[in-house]
Amino acid sequence: MVHALDSRIRILKSSKPRQEGAFVLYWMQHSQRAEANPAFERAAYWANECGLPLLVLFVVDPNYPDGSVRHFTFMLEGLKETMAEIGRRGAHFALRTGHPPDIVCQVAQDAAIVVTDRGYLRHLVAWREEVADGAGTLVEEVEGDVIVPVAEPTDKMETAARTIRPKLHKTLKRFLELPPAITIKTSAKSLPHKDDVSLGDVEAFVASLGCDASVGVAPGFKGGTSEARHRLTNFLRNDLKHYGEGRADIVDRHVSHLSPYLHFGQISPLEIYQKVVSAKANSDSFIEEMLIRRELGVNFVYHTPNYDAFEALPEWAQDTLAHHAKDKREPSYSARELEDGKTDDPYWNAAMREMRVTGYLHNHMRMYWGKRILGWMTSPKRAFETTLHLNNKYFLDGRDTNSYANVAWIYGLHDRGWPERDVYGKVRTMTPSGLKRKFDIDAYVRWTEQL
Ligand SMILES: Cc1cc2nc3c(=O)[nH]c(=O)nc-3n(C[C@H](O)[C@H](O)[C@H](O)COP(=O)(O)OP(=O)(O)OC[C@H]3O[C@@H](n4cnc5c(N)ncnc54)[C@H](O)[C@@H]3O)c2cc1C
Repeated sequence: MVHALDSRIRILKSSKPRQEGAFVLYWMQHSQRAEANPAFERAAYWANECGLPLLVLFVVDPNYPDGSVRHFTFMLEGLKETMAEIGRRGAHFALRTGHPPDIVCQVAQDAAIVVTDRGYLRHLVAWREEVADGAGTLVEEVEGDVIVPVAEPTDKMETAARTIRPKLHKTLKRFLELPPAITIKTSAKSLPHKDDVSLGDVEAFVASLGCDASVGVAPGFKGGTSEARHRLTNFLRNDLKHYGEGRADIVDRHVSHLSPYLHFGQISPLEIYQKVVSAKANSDSFIEEMLIRRELGVNFVYHTPNYDAFEALPEWAQDTLAHHAKDKREPSYSARELEDGKTDDPYWNAAMREMRVTGYLHNHMRMYWGKRILGWMTSPKRAFETTLHLNNKYFLDGRDTNSYANVAWIYGLHDRGWPERDVYGKVRTMTPSGLKRKFDIDAYVRWTEQL
């Protein structure tokens, strides 16, 4: 039987290892952690095989799409901890700034082998192709931020959770082992440190990047693996038992808040899965979200080259929205009024306020938030683009495969047709009266006013 780790590995550039290589290089990009990281373990394995030290390189791209003080601060807090852990594991962690493939290719000229982790968004795939072309040696990619590697359960875009669910469950049992932590045999002390950026002062470093400072630090979220694990422990202790019934409650919340940590690869989804399953509570609903829905999103992006375009929506949804494109929107708002939270809907304004200030929104409120934008903007395509823009600008977990799949869900992806109505056509709607019926929504509004 193929070992689970083997199915996570893809050869991006087939070559003999560089004979005169001075180290094995792990270009860390997506799996930003030192533990439960199959790419790191693969690189450690190669370092021992070659009798070489291991260099871990992370390149911060100041021009990363929608990168802001909020996103960079969270990511760098995490990397600061990862850097220290990598050092404890016996490798050297180097941090540089610039266009990642350029710097990785430069450093790779002295590497025997290059290992990297896997990303699914268009630019992340392109970066890896550039590295494969320019590294001049063997390049491997290891897929560690999904539980089941994306190509294993199915070779096509799945239309809904119900179609991917049985396939994921069938494949799952082959992928439930975390890679063992390998002891690195050769010291990294000889490796040059001269160009490395220091992470002593994260705030100053982020300021030096010149990124969008209008989206400030998310006050409730500190980045890093230990913080992710701490949240997971609290969730298992206090919330998992309520998750099945309480997941949708936007006021009395029993959710994990782990999405930013998953997005930046600060925690392994497999580690979460293992701990949730052994927690002796009913974990089915949580697994439905963290495995089925999350990996349905990865499946969508992987199989859909234009995953961020209105044209990627299912045909029935595009047709029905086109059919109703001229319906009168009452009221209707501009993108600016929306971003400022200046609508006549106090629930929606409260949601916009929460995401602007905290970088997070409960799933049910995200659904409501997106559905209302579709109802208010004069063009469905423009509404789609505005939803995606605000999503990726403000959410700490934005710019994720989940961002694209879920914004598209607002517009009909992974869903079915509903009874036809004005503006929305056959696309599912959500209304303020629904929120009022289900939750103490005024308590939610009051809470956001204090943020
Ligand atoms: C309009 C809209 C936009 C969204 N944008 C994003 C986004 O940019 N980034 C993002 O990560 N998620 C997004 N989601 C999905 C979901 O709302 C968040 O993942 C979830 O709210 C994160 O909070 P949590 O970690 O406390 O979730 P929990 O309920 O604790 O769930 C645990 C994990 O399961 C996964 N998950 C939960 N709900 C979903 C879902 N509906 N679909 C897929 N995976 C899910 C997430 O990885 C989450 O961290 C969006 C949903 C909607 C409706």
